[in-house]
Amino acid sequence: MSTKFYALFIMGCFLPFILVAQSHFVFQEQNVAPGTHQQFKIKVSDGVDSTFIPVSVFHGSKPGPVLGITAGVHGYEYAPILAAQQIARQIDPATLSDTVILVHLANVPSFLGRSPYVNPLDEKNLNRVFPGKADGSLTEQMAYQITQEVIARSDYFLDMHSGDAPEDLRPYVGYYSSERFPKASQKGEAMARALGFDHIVVFDVAAERIDEPSLYCSQEAFHRQIPSADIECGSLGAVQTQDVQPIVDGVINLLRHLEMMAGEAASLNSPIFIRERPSVISPQDGIFYPLKTSGEYVSEGMKVGYITDFFGENPVDVFANASGIILYIIGTPPINKGETLLRIGLIASSGTKK
Ligand SMILES: [Zn+2]
Repeated sequence: MSTKFYALFIMGCFLPFILVAQSHFVFQEQNVAPGTHQQFKIKVSDGVDSTFIPVSVFHGSKPGPVLGITAGVHGYEYAPILAAQQIARQIDPATLSDTVILVHLANVPSFLGRSPYVNPLDEKNLNRVFPGKADGSLTEQMAYQITQEVIARSDYFLDMHSGDAPEDLRPYVGYYSSERFPKASQKGEAMARALGFDHIVVFDVAAERIDEPSLYCSQEAFHRQIPSADIECGSLGAVQTQDVQPIVDGVINLLRHLEMMAGEAASLNSPIFIRERPSVISPQDGIFYPLKTSGEYVSEGMKVGYITDFFGENPVDVFANASGIILYIIGTPPINKGETLLRIGLIASSGTKK
């Protein structure tokens, strides 16, 4: 063999390995080396108030997809926030295929301020302002950073929630579906099944809605044709092991389903699908007495609770407006006119139409 051919032969042997060698993952202008993880604090400031978003980037030693995960978009929803801490400990970048971007706590001001729904610094709900604004209020800038740094970098996206402070919630997962993005819809359904919750809500997105601002964190991902799912697990702003563990188990199984982590992914064969979720709206301010809890099945017209005035008098009955499962119901006494008292999931026959 001539020297020239020998050189070509050697190149031929090693070129494939050179081409597939895993490169650094650049995050916040820093290199995360293959097989390592790094912690970041993304700074956000509107010139008056400031905060940060704690993010871990796990960059595997093998190629694969990028999975973005957010916890704590609502800082009073503790089960997913605590689950994220455990998930971080279970991801080994040495054996991971490509990258997990894990937002431990998207809304630090809401968390430290013990503030349900909104960031107390600007009174905005982070899950209603996506894709955010680079020069907006603090919450809008937080959404912008999450959009640019996490969602836009992801091939798959998962946002994790629970019942907020007053919400008695039955666990479920949701995924986005639209006739406009059939591939992302089907992959989203597969994600939802891999998460292992037995009730799956289909967030059907009308074709024209995709041209409007997404508003919701995971919907922003779907508007970018990224398969996208939500977990809702945990209730009443409480922390219970039975709510944290299914989230951890679900995410680990999702990583296996995406072939990012070794091991056989369990699959859920016959989940219950929900496509419609009518709300019952409170007709007045007062004190709410629920007679049902989340997860109970009700039929249309069934009494589910009542509201009294502040003297405990003049009760007004609340009735189910559909037949199905109570996904969540207000579980604490205060109620304001116009607020959602409960949401009922209507049982559907299937998920995304193939
Ligand atoms: Zn939430």
